[in-house]
Amino acid sequence: MSLRAEREQLLNWIEQERDELANFLAHFVRCASPNPPGDTRDATAALAQWLAKAGFPARTIAPRPEMPNLVASCKGDRPGRHLVLNGHIDVFPCTDADRWTRDPWGGQIADGRIYGRGVCDMKNGTVALLFAFGWLAKLKERLPGRLTFTAVSDEETGGTWGAKYLLDHHPEVLGDCLLNAEPGAPTTIRFGEKGILRAAVIVETSGCHGAYTHKSPSATRIAARIAAELAAVDDLAVTMDAAVEQALDEAADEIDRIHAHGAASVIKRFTLNIGVVRGGVKVNMLPGTCRLECDVRIPVGESVDRALSLMRGIVARHAQARLEVMGFTEPNWSDPGHPMVEHLRDASVRVSGVRPFAITSLGASDARLWRAKGVPAFTYGTTATNVAMPDEYTDVEEWIGVVKALTLAAHAYLNGEGAA
Ligand SMILES: [Zn+2]
Repeated sequence: MSLRAEREQLLNWIEQERDELANFLAHFVRCASPNPPGDTRDATAALAQWLAKAGFPARTIAPRPEMPNLVASCKGDRPGRHLVLNGHIDVFPCTDADRWTRDPWGGQIADGRIYGRGVCDMKNGTVALLFAFGWLAKLKERLPGRLTFTAVSDEETGGTWGAKYLLDHHPEVLGDCLLNAEPGAPTTIRFGEKGILRAAVIVETSGCHGAYTHKSPSATRIAARIAAELAAVDDLAVTMDAAVEQALDEAADEIDRIHAHGAASVIKRFTLNIGVVRGGVKVNMLPGTCRLECDVRIPVGESVDRALSLMRGIVARHAQARLEVMGFTEPNWSDPGHPMVEHLRDASVRVSGVRPFAITSLGASDARLWRAKGVPAFTYGTTATNVAMPDEYTDVEEWIGVVKALTLAAHAYLNGEGAA
């Protein structure tokens, strides 16, 4: 069978199994897995049963019993590339059920949509990769290389017991390339993500009676001056890899369309958000403490240290202030010229006539953990507009297009098309 015939075969299977796909996704949504608390046992069991039935029983790796991870693998008939597919099982919690017009855990199929908490982020993506694994595994007698499917828990709270644990303890999930199906937009392929620095500025003075302002400097007024000076973070000059910058410039209009006007500029810059300001006790007391909690996003190509040095310098000018790092993640990215990007593009053009742009994402995903281990990682999924909102849904037609594109791209990659 030629590669072209194999592609046709894969597309035929997807068309024939549309109903199975939709029904399984609805069932998967009904296996509620909100995080917190992050108990994914029911939802994981649904995936494990599907894999067992397909003839590829998964291994369960559960450092926390209520947060199991699944790994299934299939070997082709000759050596080749190792592609890893990754999706998460846990979803955001549903704290606004009263604002929904559907049952958030009902998995209702209506008007060409499937509704439910987490259906878009990212149960639809995890199911897409699960079925892609199943169809490609059916071709394993003719396929080179190796395909591994991973479904993880604990993504929404950082991945410590999920992807991070797998990558640290089970190197067989590393692979040569990672394909993830987090939502974004089918018009974009995401090859990197911004970094995050969380830091607190703490100002302490003796404080005193509010009428005796000569007795102590005011912690809130010092903090206000520091807050104004910290705006310099937004203006830090950015050094960006030429290929990354070119990709983002080409995609500027699409980035603005997806994320609202201004996103194309913000994606390439450092940004500072002072998310919490806490100071003072009472209106007639002069405050002796004030705390600013800062959330800085680091553009691809830059480092946490650039922002941190600037912030340290500003804070050091104020004797009563100090800076405390709360946590950070460096930005990371893969080559936008990697063959997987071309495979996803070709597949999307074939399936829907749309040529997606390669961009970085504003939010974080487990793909960063593979990149941090040196594995090129790419994300392609459905539109994310209603993630974590009432009546979260996935559009079935759009989703089927994504299923097809992911399956064809994985097939092309395993067959060694394009440079390694
Ligand atoms: Zn997600």
